[in-house]
Amino acid sequence: MKTFKLLVNTPDRVFYHEDVTMVELATSEGEIGVYADHIPLTAVLVPCVLRIHQEGEVHKAAVHGGIVEVLKDKVTVLAEIAEWPEEIDVNRANEAKIRAERLLASHDSCTDIGRAELALKRSLARLNTVD
Ligand code: ATP
Repeated sequence: MKTFKLLVNTPDRVFYHEDVTMVELATSEGEIGVYADHIPLTAVLVPCVLRIHQEGEVHKAAVHGGIVEVLKDKVTVLAEIAEWPEEIDVNRANEAKIRAERLLASHDSCTDIGRAELALKRSLARLNTVD
């Protein structure tokens, strides 16, 4: 199967830089699966599970916002935060999820809905990455 280069960069590290066969991620426009020779696009990355398909295996990572650029032979993900499953504290993610859900259910006029929704997405991305 044809491969392409996947580069995942965060402000503090080169998170991943290898040849892969497919990558799945979520953008503000919806979920996408990218193979080699995909039509070029640039999109806003939203908190999600990044699924990296490489030599018959799937590696999962949580990514939390940024930008994705798709070219014919290269995909670049510039993420604010990227975490491998073993880097994720499940209890902390569960607590963040409960906090965000409570805020969203409270209908309190002081609640910043957008911020709570984003916190919920980050916690779900983490929990689905360790799943
Ligand atoms: P919390 O409310 O628990 O702080 P958050 O979603 O607001 O979660 P972020 O702003 O996404 O946290 O991340 C801040 C820093 O904390 C980052 O370095 C991130 O990797 C780390 N972090 C957040 N949650 C977890 C977690 N569950 N496990 C490991 N690292 C985490």
